[in-house]
Amino acid sequence: MRKRKYEIVEGLCCGTCHYYVQHYIQWGGPNRFSALSYGHCIYPRMKVREPYQTCEHWRARK
Ligand code: SF4
Repeated sequence: MRKRKYEIVEGLCCGTCHYYVQHYIQWGGPNRFSALSYGHCIYPRMKVREPYQTCEHWRARK
């Protein structure tokens, strides 16, 4: 049985924001990807973000 490597979070953080883009690494095979501990935000400018961070521009994902 595979172990989960992610957390389900609630609240107004980058991990739940419309503007957040998660980064992944290809690991262990051609179609196997693992989430990294960070991603990037595309609004109002491009910047590196971690899922627990937040800001006043948070917008819910649809
Ligand atoms: S920095 Fe703000 S706008 Fe960007 S992903 Fe995080 S909460 Fe959303």
